Amino acid sequence: MAISDDVLVIGGGIAGATAALAAAEEGADVRLVTHKQSTLRNASGLIDVLGYTHEGEGPIVDPFDRLEELPESHPYRRVGTEAVREALSFFDEVAGDAYAGDHTDANALVPTHGGTVKPTARYPVSTAAGLASDPRDTLLVGFETLTDFDAPLAASHLEAAGAPFAARGVTLRFPGIVRDDAKLTRYAHLLDREEPVETAAGERSAREALAATVKPHLEGESRVGFPALLGDEFADEVRAELADRLGADVFEVPMGPPSLPGMRLEDLLYEALEDAGVRVVSGVPVVGYETDDDGTIDHVLVDRHGQEIPHEAGQYVLATGGLVGKGVRSERDRAFEPIFDCHVPHADDRYDWFVDDVFGEQPYARFGVVPDRELRPLDADEEPEFSNLRAAGAVLGGYDYAAEKSGAGVSLATGYVAGGRAGAEASR
Ligand SMILES: Cc1cc2nc3c(=O)[nH]c(=O)nc-3n(C[C@H](O)[C@H](O)[C@H](O)COP(=O)(O)OP(=O)(O)OC[C@H]3O[C@@H](n4cnc5c(N)ncnc54)[C@H](O)[C@@H]3O)c2cc1C
Repeated sequence: MAISDDVLVIGGGIAGATAALAAAEEGADVRLVTHKQSTLRNASGLIDVLGYTHEGEGPIVDPFDRLEELPESHPYRRVGTEAVREALSFFDEVAGDAYAGDHTDANALVPTHGGTVKPTARYPVSTAAGLASDPRDTLLVGFETLTDFDAPLAASHLEAAGAPFAARGVTLRFPGIVRDDAKLTRYAHLLDREEPVETAAGERSAREALAATVKPHLEGESRVGFPALLGDEFADEVRAELADRLGADVFEVPMGPPSLPGMRLEDLLYEALEDAGVRVVSGVPVVGYETDDDGTIDHVLVDRHGQEIPHEAGQYVLATGGLVGKGVRSERDRAFEPIFDCHVPHADDRYDWFVDDVFGEQPYARFGVVPDRELRPLDADEEPEFSNLRAAGAVLGGYDYAAEKSGAGVSLATGYVAGGRAGAEASR
């Protein structure tokens, strides 16, 4: 007998998790099936809504002033500005004290590891003391074994970019880390578990040793920025203890992949899914589907160790990611959506998918399924592919998250709308 639920969400990134939570809030029984790790593990953990316009102007001060200027086909225009606001409020409730930024519509400017500032709508509290709008002088601390973050260079970039504060960077040895290839989680676990490490003054806890390494380099700065590795499970505690020992505020600078703030956000969302009673099945792909006589989706097929198991639901949400997550795939001369074969518009000639200018707008970055206002993917004749399928997140086309800085925001807003509508319809 097929497994049966009100709503089945396919994909466990920020779009799928939000869709499942929104559907559960409508009273639906929800199952989420996901295959591999989502983009969250690599993403910064920042929730960008819109940092730059479609034409590349920015950074934008207030994204809500600019959403209606986006093209009609943009996912934000499909769901409407009010839904983007509601989705952010929904996220604020789920994230609780772990995220900041809800006091204003304006973008915050968060320093990143390259010494640039990123316009973003919500940011982890661990980054809050580092905002570029804050005029306090700043010491950035990098580590010899972590070459991704060159603190002196990042500090000079921040100053050159006109940050309203003095920034200095130092590169130090991280107590207890000897290997150049130590994983980021190794740094975090040393601090989380207060592991004992050898120092010139004898054995000390990792937190105490790190503070003692940094303190002599402070020259009156009232805040200190570290790469985002200050603990995992006990990150708040680690930051508070370091701040106490240094006598200065402590913040994290978001890093490239893999990203601890992204992993913390993933943990937070999965805890919320568990609390909401969503059944999560991970490590297995949805590989196909079958329809009823009226053309609606009757069930999908989940590949469990080579066996195709039917999963049935009243409503489905497709949140399988874009070209990165494999929700959209490309072959030599076609781009396609692999589960339902939903229409993915693209030029016939592959040479038109790219432009020569590497910094130019790349058409393939906008590839994805195109939905109606209900977020139902449309076929080539602009009719819904299936009445009971909605799509959310990076599987949608019509936007370039990297150029606009809108990735998590689009996934959140469309996940919220697709899940909410699917949940409401299924529990009717
Ligand atoms: C390096 C990097 C940094 C980024 N930084 C930022 C940032 O600073 N701010 C920001 O706002 N955005 C950022 N983004 C963008 C943002 O992270 C993504 O747009 C967003 O996470 C996409 O979420 P999603 O849920 O739509 O897709 P994904 O996170 O890709 O999730 C899709 C999920 O679906 C699963 N799946 C795929 N196919 C199947 C199948 N057949 N069956 C079952 N499951 C399937 C995948 O395994 C995956 O778990 C960044 C992205 C990257 C890559």
